[in-house]
Amino acid sequence: MAKIALDAGHGINTPGKRSPAGEREWTFNNKVVVAAIKYLNEYENANVIRLDDPTGNTDVSLTARTNKANSENADILVSYHHNANTGQWGTWTGTETYHYPGSSAGLTLARNVHPSILSGMGLRDRGIKTANFHMLRESNMPAILIEGGFMDSTIDIVQMRDNTVMDRTGKALAEAIASHFGLERKSGGGSPGTYTVQPGDTLWSISQAHNMTVTELKALNNLTTDDIYPGQILIVSYEGSTGTMFVQVIVSSLWVYDAPDWNARHSTVSQGEVFTIADTLTVDGATMYKLKSGLYITGNTNYVRVFEQ
Ligand SMILES: [Zn+2]
Repeated sequence: MAKIALDAGHGINTPGKRSPAGEREWTFNNKVVVAAIKYLNEYENANVIRLDDPTGNTDVSLTARTNKANSENADILVSYHHNANTGQWGTWTGTETYHYPGSSAGLTLARNVHPSILSGMGLRDRGIKTANFHMLRESNMPAILIEGGFMDSTIDIVQMRDNTVMDRTGKALAEAIASHFGLERKSGGGSPGTYTVQPGDTLWSISQAHNMTVTELKALNNLTTDDIYPGQILIVSYEGSTGTMFVQVIVSSLWVYDAPDWNARHSTVSQGEVFTIADTLTVDGATMYKLKSGLYITGNTNYVRVFEQ
């Protein structure tokens, strides 16, 4: 299990942290972080801890952030930012990654991640640097702080305003982290019948895209309010049910097994993940599902729920 602490720097309303056009730094940082989390979820044993407020409304203190990473025993910390020089438009440009002075583990992490951010952003390489930043100094694990580009650069802002660039940079970050830990992709690459909520989505837009009503979407996901958040995994049904049975994890972490044997623990899966059921068994008097992947999971409804599509 790799515990990955991420933050998107600041909050939406943190004073000063904006482009000369008034765009908020956090919104750029958050796009990359949300994408990174989305793509990290495609790997086995990637446990992401978000240190900032995922809504951006609260600027969580730096001390609270490093305290959380330390108390959760995160394996690495990545703080994602965008730079500013004068606050007026200029032609300075580029991507840089910081680690704490003298931290060889921080340097290793920076070397493993920085080239991927460069390829995602497509900007000048300003290199790997050191700085006595709080997030790097007060964290107990290897930590880096990335400045993806300059908010007050007429060159960099073009990339930052392009959601494709933000998404591919988040993907590059996720892949670099996965490679750093040697994580393997989940078999099947993505779950059938699920959708990860993106910034700006509403229940209405998601239900329209999947030929459902809002009522059906809420019922399928046991939603009691209309609140959804970026990164949330929703079950969506497609037109023409195939009658296939799926099992969804409803607790934060759950074992899957190599064999129909409660002792044959393979690895853990995370809340919201969905798997296709291939067979239903009874093992030591309890329900166990054989999954399409060949692994096994409990059928106990305290831990999972089952649905048909
Ligand atoms: Zn920043």
